[in-house]
Amino acid sequence: MENESVLIRYIKTKKGLLTVSGILATISTVVQFIPFYCIYKIIELLMLGNYSAEGLIHWSLVSMGSVLVGVVLLYASSMCSHVAAFDILYDIRMDLLQHLSKVSMGYFSQKSSGQLMKIIDQCVEKMESFIAHQIPDIVSALIFPLIYVGLMLMIDWRLGLVSLVPLFLAVAIYALLMGKTMKNNKVKQYHDALEAMNSNGVEYVRAMPAVKIFGLSVGNFKRFHQSIKDYRSLVMEWSNGFRSGYVLFTTLITSVVLFVMPFGAFLISQNPQDKTLSLTVMLFIILASGTTGPFMKLMYAASTFSNVNEGVKRVDEIFAEAPVKEQDNVTAFSGNRISFEEVSFSYIPGSPVLKKVSFELKPNTMNALVGPSGGGKSTIAQLLLRFYEPTEGTIKIGATDIRETTIDTLMQNVSFVFQDVTLFNDSIEENIRMGNRIASIEDIRRVAKMARCDEFIQELPNGYQTKIGEQGVFLSKGEAQRVSIARALLKNSPILVLDEATAYADAENEVYIQQAIGELVKGKTVLIIAHRLWTIQHVDQILVCDKGEIQATGTHEELLAGNPLYQKLWAINEETKEWEVK
Ligand code: ADP
Repeated sequence: MENESVLIRYIKTKKGLLTVSGILATISTVVQFIPFYCIYKIIELLMLGNYSAEGLIHWSLVSMGSVLVGVVLLYASSMCSHVAAFDILYDIRMDLLQHLSKVSMGYFSQKSSGQLMKIIDQCVEKMESFIAHQIPDIVSALIFPLIYVGLMLMIDWRLGLVSLVPLFLAVAIYALLMGKTMKNNKVKQYHDALEAMNSNGVEYVRAMPAVKIFGLSVGNFKRFHQSIKDYRSLVMEWSNGFRSGYVLFTTLITSVVLFVMPFGAFLISQNPQDKTLSLTVMLFIILASGTTGPFMKLMYAASTFSNVNEGVKRVDEIFAEAPVKEQDNVTAFSGNRISFEEVSFSYIPGSPVLKKVSFELKPNTMNALVGPSGGGKSTIAQLLLRFYEPTEGTIKIGATDIRETTIDTLMQNVSFVFQDVTLFNDSIEENIRMGNRIASIEDIRRVAKMARCDEFIQELPNGYQTKIGEQGVFLSKGEAQRVSIARALLKNSPILVLDEATAYADAENEVYIQQAIGELVKGKTVLIIAHRLWTIQHVDQILVCDKGEIQATGTHEELLAGNPLYQKLWAINEETKEWEVK
């Protein structure tokens, strides 16, 4: 079914284990009644006076044995449900992460990382408690009252009805409380408040450098502060609303004996000679003490269910986000020529960032995008990588529209090196291997040498095995950029997008990075997003991008001779260069 909730869908994959767990929980619940019966039998023997030691020992052993069997069954049931739950959690998380890697980048500007983390972490975690604990609990909590009520009414309907009064009232009060929570949409508000707090918290931690430099406190982060206050008042108000109802509920659940005892005493006073009646009253008193646990479990299961359900809805929302459409009409590109044909794009509907952009990058040439900040250079690169879809127009590699192939095929053909390098908390070797999963250590060494990183890697405590982030090993920005160039070298794809990586490097690093890039660009179609013009003077083609349009294309000399914007950019470049040299 299309709109089946994620929880149901995944629970179905573990139907076998969960059914076994339910059956074991049911048998264990039935077994729970045996000790009550044994106590009853022992009291009966004692009251009737003609008992033998064997009889007493017999019932005691049966009672102990049944408690043991009950515990073993419950343990086995819980093992089955836990194995199913952790398998399901693993599958949901893996599928969620896989799905997120396929949705358009636009989705991540609507959802903060704090919000997504809360869903992947906490909402999914709550499903564990539901599947592993609540499913067996609900089974036994539903079976228990059924057997209990049946047994009571069968043994003595008058006493049975009296002992049901407090239970009935308790369930009614609980239903009212739950109804109130649903009506006020409290569970949704609770999750919203928790997400807001998480998302603002992540933003706060990210902004820590500014917090320290400007001596800010949490009070300066009004949104974070407000979200904490909102969360507190919501939870306080919610708990206060529950207080009297909850107290009444627990009082009633634990006070069945208070109802049974006076009524039992009354019945006995009517017929003091009837020993069987006295015994029955005794049995009801014993049974009354056993109701609290299962009924509390039922209540707990009902309240967590609405909480889990709200989390499930949020996980469903992520899965409902359509992934970038993939086709596999074409499995390989015919050549590495790139063309943008009348491509328009807007991040926000109605405010176009690119307007009918057309250009061509010839195979195996170096090309640079230059222009004022905000002109659309990064957007062009991101469209080529299919981070976003053009609103209009076509992007082709060779003769193929990039939408005609899978993201995997596209990624095999295009590498990119960004300014902000992401290195994972893994060994340097594995970080480079991301460029090609099947590369040998020799291949990794070879590209590391080409990218001028072999030398500094050798000096790390464990060489290529050194884990980034451990033993205080952190790479400088320039070193990290060279590692990312090694990664791209290893990938060796025919097309390369380069966000001019040298912007923050020091002089020594800059020389190394330029050498590394020199190795990387050989024999490829390259698109460089250039911030400093002197580094791209000798490329084959320069595209001047301004206000979402390609204003002019040509070589450095041609543009310097004929394009006023390029002349202006070049003049600024010369000034900056002089300033940097000084
Ligand atoms: P450049 O790389 O030339 O500096 P960009 O391509 O980054 O320019 O940005 C072009 C325009 O798109 C700018 O006006 C920028 O504010 C806007 N923009 C960039 N990224 C986003 C985004 N994720 N959401 C909305 N607008 C964006």
